[in-house]
Amino acid sequence: MLDTIIKGGRVVTPTGAGHWDIGILGEKIVAVCIPGAPLPEAKEVIDATGKIVVPGGVEPHIHAASNVQPRIPESVPGVPNAGPRDHSLGAIWGGTTTVVDFAPVPNEGDIVAGIHDYISVWPGNAYTDYSTHCVYSSSNTPDAISRYSELINAGFPSIKIFTTDTKPPEGRIPISIVAKMDMGRLSDLMEQIAKHGGVLAVHGADDEITMYNYLTAKKRGRWDWHNAHLIHSNLVEDLAFRRVVWLAERTGVGMYFVHVTAKEGLESIAEARSRGMPVYGEVLTLALSFNCDRYKEEDGMKYHTFPSLKYEDDRLRLWDGLLHQDLAFTATDSGFTTYLDKIAGRNVLDMRGGNVGIEIRMGVTYTDGVVKQGMSLERYADVTSTNAAKMLGFYPRKGAIAVGSDADITIIDPSVKKSLSIDDLHVRDYSPWEGWQVEGWPTTVMLRGKVMVDKGQLLGQPTDGQLISRKVEPSILQRPAF
Ligand SMILES: [Zn+2]
Repeated sequence: MLDTIIKGGRVVTPTGAGHWDIGILGEKIVAVCIPGAPLPEAKEVIDATGKIVVPGGVEPHIHAASNVQPRIPESVPGVPNAGPRDHSLGAIWGGTTTVVDFAPVPNEGDIVAGIHDYISVWPGNAYTDYSTHCVYSSSNTPDAISRYSELINAGFPSIKIFTTDTKPPEGRIPISIVAKMDMGRLSDLMEQIAKHGGVLAVHGADDEITMYNYLTAKKRGRWDWHNAHLIHSNLVEDLAFRRVVWLAERTGVGMYFVHVTAKEGLESIAEARSRGMPVYGEVLTLALSFNCDRYKEEDGMKYHTFPSLKYEDDRLRLWDGLLHQDLAFTATDSGFTTYLDKIAGRNVLDMRGGNVGIEIRMGVTYTDGVVKQGMSLERYADVTSTNAAKMLGFYPRKGAIAVGSDADITIIDPSVKKSLSIDDLHVRDYSPWEGWQVEGWPTTVMLRGKVMVDKGQLLGQPTDGQLISRKVEPSILQRPAF
């Protein structure tokens, strides 16, 4: 006897999209078969006729554990930052079933215990499954870098680094995991990651040019918030990506750039890939939807997250990369802010990062990619789930509708047509996508065989999500595999 059968839907499997029935027992997919093929009885049958059935979304980039106080103080007093519970709640409503957070690597003691301690705010607050990237910075000792194998052996293969502090000292959040790593440490770290078969995620922005842009901003009339793209400029991304790629080539590390925003950054990834390097790119839904003209609106800072939105030709080039080859997956960089948080900063120094896109990522990518630009359903599943699952070592447990995989399944109803409003969303109080026309939306979301969301009802609990151990498939680290 099965627990659930999902029948009648157009299902995206690793071998392509087609009409398949899915059998689920416990937490796992146990059958994917042609419609009408004999399956054992099931306790529940979900009729997905007319719907699209895809692997549950994998969101590789959220900042949740760092938001729990007193790690980052409230930016607007009395308005609490959003931690794991809000992030995973937005995710599950939007069809994302697995998320990846960030935790800093300590220098002393048991470094794996340090990571577990940092994410100890997740159990009991998780509507999704989760893991964390480990973050190294220039505050880490060479000894801590040499101990990377302890992290990968504990199921945390992905390391995040920043090449910039993003803001000059007077603008930094007091306790933040955003801290740059120098090239000396980075080259050492890349060797460690390459040797042990992990993956490096890089926030690439040239620190010296960024800081000089801040230094000269007032004099050059670039102090107001709507100049963010002139501080975190195309050149800033271009130079950093190229330096990091050279270092990656010398060390052989498998890596990706987080939140690519500029056509120059994408070009640098494309060139590296054309030379056979295992270099990949992530893009934010925010950067696919908006350009820096939006900053000029009266509350235009609500569209911002770091590094910055760029120009329309950059936005179109990002779509080109996502539709074809050189960008591998979408992400949010979610650090759930409120509207008050978001509009409190009025200049390039005090404007706030973070955005609330986690709930709309799957739906908006479906509308803007599949419906409007003819993205194939296979590519849609790749860029919202499968590729991130592969890159970060969840695959094939996550990111696939296949026998043996976790039954993490999102059902999209393509007949939903609406203008998005904040009332459609479930977390926080504003959305940059207010009024966005969508066609198709996730209506049923299943996590390891349990229906979490169905027809506008939340059925899951914050105790349902689990920490998932990861291991990256070696072929992904040898050449561009997707
Ligand atoms: Zn981030």
